[in-house]
Amino acid sequence: MEGKEKTMQEVNVRVAVRVRPMLPKEKVGGDDMCLKIIPTTKQLILGKDRGFTFDEVLSPKSTQEEVYKLCVENLVKSIFEGYNATVFAYGQTGSGKTYTIGGGNISPVTEDEDGIIPRAVRQMFDTLSIDKSVTYTVKVSYIEIYKEELRDLLELNSDNKPDLHVREDDKGNTVIIGAREVECESLDEVMSLLETGSAARHTGATNMNEHSSRSHSIFTITIGQTWTENDVLASKRKPDDDCDDVENEMNHNMFGKFHFVDLAGSERAHKTGNVGDRFKESVHINSGLLALGNVISALGDPKKKSTHIPYRESKITRLLKDSLGGNAQTLMICCVSPSAANFDESLNALKYANR
Ligand code: ADP
Ligand code: MG
Repeated sequence: MEGKEKTMQEVNVRVAVRVRPMLPKEKVGGDDMCLKIIPTTKQLILGKDRGFTFDEVLSPKSTQEEVYKLCVENLVKSIFEGYNATVFAYGQTGSGKTYTIGGGNISPVTEDEDGIIPRAVRQMFDTLSIDKSVTYTVKVSYIEIYKEELRDLLELNSDNKPDLHVREDDKGNTVIIGAREVECESLDEVMSLLETGSAARHTGATNMNEHSSRSHSIFTITIGQTWTENDVLASKRKPDDDCDDVENEMNHNMFGKFHFVDLAGSERAHKTGNVGDRFKESVHINSGLLALGNVISALGDPKKKSTHIPYRESKITRLLKDSLGGNAQTLMICCVSPSAANFDESLNALKYANR
């Protein structure tokens, strides 16, 4: 990391809440609103008097672009300085996680409606097209965790899918053994992988919504940079400069990883009438979300900084270990429905996010 020394960030876990608008069917059904946002205070009131404060509160009126600029733009910048970052979308099924994260749209959306992933990828390619003295590589992987098992969404040939394993290399980087990593040259290539992978996620189950609401999906972009001192000097020199190159062909490398995580629905078991297999599934989901909550709350609490962070308790926290904590930046976007019909689940989600 020579030359670009990392500075320790004071706050590396942020929590935003996004309240989606009422959907047409909720309006038609005459649902009441059960959430109020107090303008300019980052406060939100659920029901009559349950107040919550977060790092950001995004109202039903906030656009995809506003959400991106406020919450994600700076994280993408930090990837180019060698940091890792993770954005989570948390919330009950139907609260707007997939809409916000911008992965796996089955129907095409307009550019205004693009969620976080396409905007981030665009910003990445814009950034790397500017600096010609650095050689960049962009790699993509797309993994799903279903019932605590990993599945590669980019490996479409189901006959020879290797089992995936999470390992830590000697530098403390998390690697997924067996996962396909695809090198991409353009925004279009990345987006087509996202689409193919999301389609694989859906068709893997009899009922698409059922499946996607019970699995976590993790779309990862790794940006590698390689440069030599000579490249950098040459790029700064004016064309008519006449000076000899100092012999300095030493290679410098730097990597930054960005995870975009669409979490399983946070709703509790009883609401969906879980029995048997379904129930086991929801136990897996809830233990994963619980473990994640424990890790994030330990990271966000200065008093717990020195104590043990429980990464090993679930697949998702093991997988994201090198991108949570340390110098990594973490953003949790808690999505909630404003409808009174979802009061209980919204309260639960806000309590979770508030930890
Ligand atoms: P989840 O992934 O949490 O299950 P979705 O992202 O699929 O939820 O959102 C459920 C529905 O609500 C979708 O039809 C989506 O288009 C709509 N929706 C969610 N958030 C917004 C928003 N901020 N603005 C407009 N529509 C939204
Ligand atoms: Mg979804």
